[in-house]
Amino acid sequence: MRCLALNASFEPLTMVPVRRALRLVIDRKAEIVESEGQPVRSERLELPRPAVIRLVKFVHVPRRFRRQVTNTFLFARDDYRCQFCGRTQRDLRPRECLTRDHLVPLSRGGTNGWTNVLTACSGCNTRKGNLLPEEAGMQPLRPPFEPHFVHLAWAVRRLTLTQSKYIRLFYGADVLATLEAL
Ligand SMILES: [Zn+2]
Repeated sequence: MRCLALNASFEPLTMVPVRRALRLVIDRKAEIVESEGQPVRSERLELPRPAVIRLVKFVHVPRRFRRQVTNTFLFARDDYRCQFCGRTQRDLRPRECLTRDHLVPLSRGGTNGWTNVLTACSGCNTRKGNLLPEEAGMQPLRPPFEPHFVHLAWAVRRLTLTQSKYIRLFYGADVLATLEAL
């Protein structure tokens, strides 16, 4: 289980390992908002197991950082499915793997932003090469889009009921319903 970290403003920021969350609490950089499960014991002290923490000071998260696309999140956004042939990780042959494809290739001015990258199997990625989708005759199953952070957190690691309460508090019930439908 991971801990949901909120900004001082209660904006959900990220999921952190419980150990890291406790370190922030011990250093008085964060406070425990909700705890769940067995307490965490160390040699000297016993602490509640944090499920949701809140940073004491407001942290400005640069947009660039928030938008950074890692393959973990990219594959999760695309449901671990090649966006050209539709095969999932499970359907791939032994030497194939999921890769990051750039709709407009980097060599032709494409970026690493959310709206230009998608999940492709190594076969499709090689076939598309340095071509634009129309040149290769390969259109993605759906146009790449910038996902909401929380969708990613949810897709990658499910939130507990307690954690989801804070998503609802900040983003509203409709966002939570959308997440639950994923
Ligand atoms: Zn493919």
